[in-house]
Amino acid sequence: VDADVTVIGAGIVGLATARALQRRLGADVVVVDKELAPGLHQTGRNSGVVHSGLYYAPGSAKAVLVAEGRRMLMERCRQWGVPVEPCGKVVVATRVAQIAALDELERRGRRNGVEVARLTPGRLARIEPHVSGLAALHVPQAAITDFGAVARSLADEVQGDGATMRYGSAVTSIRQRTADGAGLEVGTAGGTFTTRWLVNCAGLHSDRIARLAGADTGIRIVPFRGEYHELTASARDLVRHLVYPVPDPRWPFLGVHLTRMVDGSVHVGPNAVLALGREAYERQVDRRDLAELVAFPGLQRLARRYWRTGIEEIVRSRSRRLLFAEVRRLVPELGLEDLVPSRAGIRAQAVAADGTLLDDFAVATSPRAVHVLNAPSPAASASLAIAEVVTDRLVRLIGR
Ligand SMILES: Cc1cc2nc3c(=O)[nH]c(=O)nc-3n(C[C@H](O)[C@H](O)[C@H](O)COP(=O)(O)OP(=O)(O)OC[C@H]3O[C@@H](n4cnc5c(N)ncnc54)[C@H](O)[C@@H]3O)c2cc1C
Repeated sequence: VDADVTVIGAGIVGLATARALQRRLGADVVVVDKELAPGLHQTGRNSGVVHSGLYYAPGSAKAVLVAEGRRMLMERCRQWGVPVEPCGKVVVATRVAQIAALDELERRGRRNGVEVARLTPGRLARIEPHVSGLAALHVPQAAITDFGAVARSLADEVQGDGATMRYGSAVTSIRQRTADGAGLEVGTAGGTFTTRWLVNCAGLHSDRIARLAGADTGIRIVPFRGEYHELTASARDLVRHLVYPVPDPRWPFLGVHLTRMVDGSVHVGPNAVLALGREAYERQVDRRDLAELVAFPGLQRLARRYWRTGIEEIVRSRSRRLLFAEVRRLVPELGLEDLVPSRAGIRAQAVAADGTLLDDFAVATSPRAVHVLNAPSPAASASLAIAEVVTDRLVRLIGR
């Protein structure tokens, strides 16, 4: 047998899991990724925010794991010299209609053990002089990091502890082998190998890997492209913290926000547009992905439920002016010339066959395999804690 455990996906969740498996089980681990380096998809294309747990339903896996994972991540960044900055964030209500939702966020945050302070417009102006709002929340714990750099540090660590990294190896088949105790045979473009156990952390392709392993839960990944702009260097000083709107409760994303990145740039976005390809960063169309999306009954049901918000997002994606109007509610001094296009990321959002968006993190098992089926934001912040949950599931499967 070539490996005790094979982890598919060298994103932050897969690498954190590989490390937990080495530490807790002393396992001989193989990490497989179709790309030539770690963290090139969601992990390397996000807002870089270490979330504090304000938004999530109390008791949900997101709420519990982000609290735990955040602490682990902050400690790891300091130990490994990965940049991390506890810059804090403000969530700003700019319309009277948002005040009730802001109140609810404040309650949620407190129930989740997050430090939250209510700001009047005067207090908001003192800490964010160029941001305007009717009321706001201040969350001092929110931080920023570079999740791609965290992934690279994890890859170095697991490789240093003996893991085999198989980059450039897209997994194309998974077969059960019962005769020789090998468990599974994993086929990749570069050859086949055997493993006793498998962990699927394939992000945007996790549903496909689950199906290859014989675990079809009916869940499909629906890709949502998040398109960003950034502020020109001369406008960066207009924001000091992370500045977020009150999220639209009809939509699972956080709304257009201004995020300071660890390199000093300030990103504005993202919006959320259905992508016609799981890696369609440049708005291209992937025929296979599109054909699967169209055939998926969950998408039609989803479209019926969210068509209005979906259309607003598509329109905003085509018009810098509309995006600008949204951001200017938060920072009225911004000029259109202060925004320049930046790169996009694509979120892997799991959707059930009945069209329900899976809100919480989701993990499932199949013979000899554990599958991370839904790890959207804040999974990067929570990754080290998610890794412990996945390892617990594998331990149960192994029956140790
Ligand atoms: C626009 C955007 C903004 C976000 N902002 C934040 C934020 O501020 N804070 C936060 O905590 N989270 C944020 N997130 C979410 C966060 O980025 C993800 O939850 C997290 O990166 C998921 O990590 P992952 O390892 O599961 O997936 P990924 O990073 O996508 O890794 C999956 C890996 O699997 C590999 N793979 C896929 N298929 C195969 C195959 N067949 N064979 C071999 N390898 C394969 C891929 O190459 C990839 O490397 C954001 C996400 C996006 C897109």
